[in-house]
Amino acid sequence: MTVPAAAPDLAVQRLRADFPILRTEVNGHPLVYLDSAATSQKPRQVLDAELDFLTQHNAAVHRGAHTTAAEATDLFEDARAAVAGFVGATPDELVWTSGATMGLNLIAYAIGNASQMGRRAGGRFALRPSDEIVVTVAEHHANLLPWQELAARTGAVLRHIPVHDDGTLDLNAARDIIGERTRVLAFSHVSNVLGLVNPVADLVELARAAGALTVLDACQSAPHLPLDLPALGVDLAVFSGHKMLGPYGIGGLYGHAEVLDDLPPFLTGGSMISTVTLDHAEYLPPPHKFEAGTQPVGPAIGLAAAVRYLDAVGMDAVAAHERIVAERMRDGLREIDGIRLLGDAPGAERVGLWSFEVEGVHAHDAGQYLDARGIAVRVGHHCAAPLHRRFGVAASVRASTALYTTHAEVDMFLDGVRGIRAYFGAGS
Ligand code: PMP
Repeated sequence: MTVPAAAPDLAVQRLRADFPILRTEVNGHPLVYLDSAATSQKPRQVLDAELDFLTQHNAAVHRGAHTTAAEATDLFEDARAAVAGFVGATPDELVWTSGATMGLNLIAYAIGNASQMGRRAGGRFALRPSDEIVVTVAEHHANLLPWQELAARTGAVLRHIPVHDDGTLDLNAARDIIGERTRVLAFSHVSNVLGLVNPVADLVELARAAGALTVLDACQSAPHLPLDLPALGVDLAVFSGHKMLGPYGIGGLYGHAEVLDDLPPFLTGGSMISTVTLDHAEYLPPPHKFEAGTQPVGPAIGLAAAVRYLDAVGMDAVAAHERIVAERMRDGLREIDGIRLLGDAPGAERVGLWSFEVEGVHAHDAGQYLDARGIAVRVGHHCAAPLHRRFGVAASVRASTALYTTHAEVDMFLDGVRGIRAYFGAGS
C-alpha cells in the first residue's frame, strides 16, 4: 500500500490525488465537498485494501483449516490491531461494530441486560429505578435515544447537562447534575453541530468521583484529532469508520479491559462462545464476546487501511491543517451579513466544522443554492434536534472539512454564502 510520506504541513494537493471523487464535477462545477462530518470521502488505498481482500483472500475468519481462511483471519486481526493502535488501545479492547449507532446501542442494551439480571448477577452495571443516566443537550440522536430507551426499560432517570449560549458545556451545571445517583455519563468528544471539543478530563473526573461509567462518542474527533482513548480515561468509546476515510458498515467500540470483561453481551450466537450445550453457553473473552455472527471483514480491513493512511499523514498535521481551515471559514462567515454561527466560542478548542443560520432564508434553500454551485453542505438539524431547539433554530447549514479541504474550497464556499441572501431577497 502506498501512503503519502509523513509531512508536518499537509501536502493537500498531493493527498487529494488519492481521492477519486474529489476530481468529479457537480452541476457543472468542481465538487467542493464540505460534508465530511456526515461521511468522509475514501482514498484509493482504502478501496484497494478491500478489493485486494475480496479478490485474493476472502474466506470465513476464525474458522476452517484452509490456507485462505488463515490469511483472512490474519488480515482481520491485523486490522483490529491497527485500528486499536490508532486510538491508543490494545487489540483486546477493540470490538467491531457496524458503526457508532450500533456501538452505543450495544453498550445501552448490554447495561439493560445487566439490569435485568439484577445487581448480583449484573454486577456494577445493573441500573435500578432512581439511578441516573446523564447526557448533554448537544448529543447526536445516536447518543440520546439508546439512553432514553434504557431509562424507560430500567426506570432510571435521564438527565441533561446544558450548554452556554456560546455552545460550550456548562460545567457548573455538570457539577450539580453528576452525583452519587449517576451511574452512566455519556457525551460526545466533539459536537457534530458545534464542532466544539468537550472538556473530557473534567467530565471524566466528575464521573469517576461519582463512581459512574463514562461513554464517549468519538465520531467527530477520531477523523480530526490525535486520539488516545485510554489516556482520556473513559471506560467505553465509539467511533465510526465511514467518517474517518473508511468504508460504510464498520465502526469501533473501545472498552477498558475490565469493563469489557464485566459487561454482559448484547447479541448472542455463533463466534462469541467457547462451549455450548442445549441449555447453556460459555462466552469467549472480549472482544469476541461482543462479536456474534459473521463480522464485516472487508470493511474492517478497509478501515485499517484508512487509519494507516491517517497515521502516515500524521494526526497532528491533520489537526493543524483543519484548525487553519476552520479559522478561515469562521473569519469569512463572521463578515457576511445575516449569518449567525452556532458555537462561536472565542478561543475554544474545535474541529473544522461550522453550523449557521442564514437570516431570512431556510437552511434547505441555502443548501440548494450552494449545491447549484457544486458546494456540498448538510442542512437540517443534523440528528441533534434538542440542541437546535436549545438555540431556537429549526434547521441550520453545516459546512464540515477534512484533511483534504483546501483554502480555495473555503473561499469558493464563502463566495457562495455571500450570494445567498441577495438571491432569496432576504434583508433587502
Ligand atoms: N455520533 C455523532 C456525533 C455523529 O456525528 C454520528 C454520525 N452523524 C453518529 C454518532 C452516528 O454514527 P454512525 O453513522 O456510525 O452510526
